[in-house]
Amino acid sequence: MLTTSSHPRLSDLEDIKSDSLLALIALANSDPREDKIDVGVGVYKDGTGATPILRAVKVAEKLLWERQESKSYLGGRGDVEFPKLIGQFLLGPHAGDPRIDGLQTPGGCGALSLAFKLINAANPQARVLVGVPTWPNHEPIVTGVGLELHAYPYYDREARSIRFDAMMKALSSARAGDIALLHGCCHNPTGADLSAAQWAEVTRVVVERNLLPVVDIAYQGLGDGLDEDAAGLRRILDACDEVLVAQSCDKNFGVYRDRVGTLFIKTASAESTARAMAHVLQIAREMWSMPPDHGAAAVRVVLQDPALKADWLAELGEMRARIKRIRSAISAAHPGLAYIGEQKGMFSMLPISRDQVLKLREDHGIYMADSGRFNVLGMADDAVDRFTQAIVAVIG
Ligand code: PLP
Repeated sequence: MLTTSSHPRLSDLEDIKSDSLLALIALANSDPREDKIDVGVGVYKDGTGATPILRAVKVAEKLLWERQESKSYLGGRGDVEFPKLIGQFLLGPHAGDPRIDGLQTPGGCGALSLAFKLINAANPQARVLVGVPTWPNHEPIVTGVGLELHAYPYYDREARSIRFDAMMKALSSARAGDIALLHGCCHNPTGADLSAAQWAEVTRVVVERNLLPVVDIAYQGLGDGLDEDAAGLRRILDACDEVLVAQSCDKNFGVYRDRVGTLFIKTASAESTARAMAHVLQIAREMWSMPPDHGAAAVRVVLQDPALKADWLAELGEMRARIKRIRSAISAAHPGLAYIGEQKGMFSMLPISRDQVLKLREDHGIYMADSGRFNVLGMADDAVDRFTQAIVAVIG
């Protein structure tokens, strides 16, 4: 039936570009080859190629099922014990600072959305400085709230190193009140983290230029260890009186679909933090009202029980060791891949062309993003050699 209408209708919406990573997952799923390797999707895989529920989380879920007596509303902050427990391993000596408060959010994405909405409420003129490449969802989250994104080069794929001078130049020419969006550890998509000396330089310029740092930390414990991975963030907290921290448990507790995260706010005084928190709660009320409980409750149970916490730390250590093992296997295969052994976390980038990415897909059943980003852990143990040989064949 033909309708004529004077107003825009849902049916008139234009096509939008679909998320290329989601399209890649669909493509890999439809490949019938049994030995295909999907290193596009960003989840941890164990030696058998499975993404397991962590042992301690599984026990905590059982305990929750046995002990939980109500699913009544908890309130906008979610589980109030949860951010305190996260703060203990994330903030280190800053945990308990009365100028810092935190609330539970639906994953790291929820924390980032809240952070940028809060910034937009306080200073809509602020520009968000972010190094590229970055995690593809940063841009829509930042621009979606109406803030301007100001990109600078962060990583040189061909040179396989951080473009630190370009980063410092961009931060040094920022305006007071601009935002420095920083990856806390295990940079996604490059795996190239700032060294301690570089964190010190970045912190110095953030203070000098009066910038507001937003630290996005979604992989704590998957680099060098919980404390080591939070060292840059803690340095920022040492030096700055205003900081926002978007944290995620979705990777380090393996609770991806349960959407578990925290936003921490630090301002110059406990009173101004309380005011900022009231704004954040109002914004959260509009967005999701209250965060989902189950995943955060399971994480809380793990962190409150010394035996479960010890087991979580042990399993996180196993995950970290697997990351390091695969990184060294790939880096030992070719001098041009040596840098992969130095990088951190789940991702690295190969300096290969789109044609080479397609060749890997067609000839070897290896699926990675067009940018050459791949999940170091996207393969089972018995696929590592085949993956490495195919990469070496393609890079020559
Ligand atoms: N920040 C970075 C850099 C990420 O890579 C991710 C997830 O991939 C997130 C934040 C958000 O994680 P989630 O919302 O799944 O907790």
